Amino acid sequence: MNNHLHYLNNMGITVWEQNSSRACSFTEGTTSPLSDWNALQQTVAACTACSLHQSRTQTVFGVGNRQAELLIIGEAPGFYEDQQGEPFVGRAGQLLNAMLQAIGMNRDLVYIANILKCRPPNNRDPLPEEVNLCTGFLEQQIALIQPKLLLAVGRIAAHYLLKTKSSLESLRGKLHRFGINQTPLLITYHPAYLLRNPIDKRKAFMDLQLTWRTLEELKFN
Ligand code: SF4
Repeated sequence: MNNHLHYLNNMGITVWEQNSSRACSFTEGTTSPLSDWNALQQTVAACTACSLHQSRTQTVFGVGNRQAELLIIGEAPGFYEDQQGEPFVGRAGQLLNAMLQAIGMNRDLVYIANILKCRPPNNRDPLPEEVNLCTGFLEQQIALIQPKLLLAVGRIAAHYLLKTKSSLESLRGKLHRFGINQTPLLITYHPAYLLRNPIDKRKAFMDLQLTWRTLEELKFN
């Protein structure tokens, strides 16, 4: 079994077509000052703006390459993320890794962050006031990274970034824009959803193929 089929198999998909196994390259150019990142990370770690600080083990800031062309945005830390201080670990994280590898990418090439930096109790949906208080941190991360493309995984992240309540299904497969810089944005399923609904893994892989193609196009524009 070649690597491509191996990774698809890890996603729980038996047959797929793939455009290419080429990896996403890093953006050359200026890097954000380390002090900006350190200051932001310290501010998040000390944040008590909403009540979620009372039940967290630790904040979950984000992880990955700070010059990434692709920034993956999820919802909020879960149990394992809260324990380990890293987004997308556990089974959902393993599936996200397999999804990235299926298009020739990996966690070292992308940056991964959530819209909330603290775990909601019992993994409930974030409350609107929590989102309002926390997403300034994500927006600063976006400003520091200046990615070519955002990929929102799941309904909560998609609804925040697009300021909509439309179904995730209707938001997939289209290039959206986010923020004052009009950063290109794509939408796909959350890996935790895919674990519960494996029939949609094929559609998720179509989204990933679109992500890869869009990144390639953005590099040459
Ligand atoms: S969820 Fe965000 S706003 Fe609330 S305490 Fe944690 S870091 Fe602060």
